[in-house]
Amino acid sequence: MVDPKDPVAQGLGYVAEAAQADTSKYKTYAAGQACSNCALYGGKAGEAAGPCPLFAGKHVSAKGWCSAYAKKVG
Ligand code: SF4
Repeated sequence: MVDPKDPVAQGLGYVAEAAQADTSKYKTYAAGQACSNCALYGGKAGEAAGPCPLFAGKHVSAKGWCSAYAKKVG
C-alpha cells in the first residue's frame, strides 16, 4: 500500500480517505471523487485497494484520492 507520508504521495496530496483531501490546497477536489472512480485506478470493483500508475508497484486505497484525480468515463 502507498504510505500517505511517502514523498511521492505527499507531492500528489494523496490521502487514504478521500474526505481527508486538503481542500485548501487542492481546489479540484469534489465530494464523491475517489481512486475507485478515477481513470487511472486499476483495481477491481469491490476491492479495497488497487494499482495506480503514479505509484508503481504499490496499491492505493479504493477510497483514496490524489490531486491527479481524473474522472473515469463510462
Ligand atoms: Fe487515486 Fe487516481 Fe490519484 Fe491514482 S491518480 S492515487 S487512482 S486519485
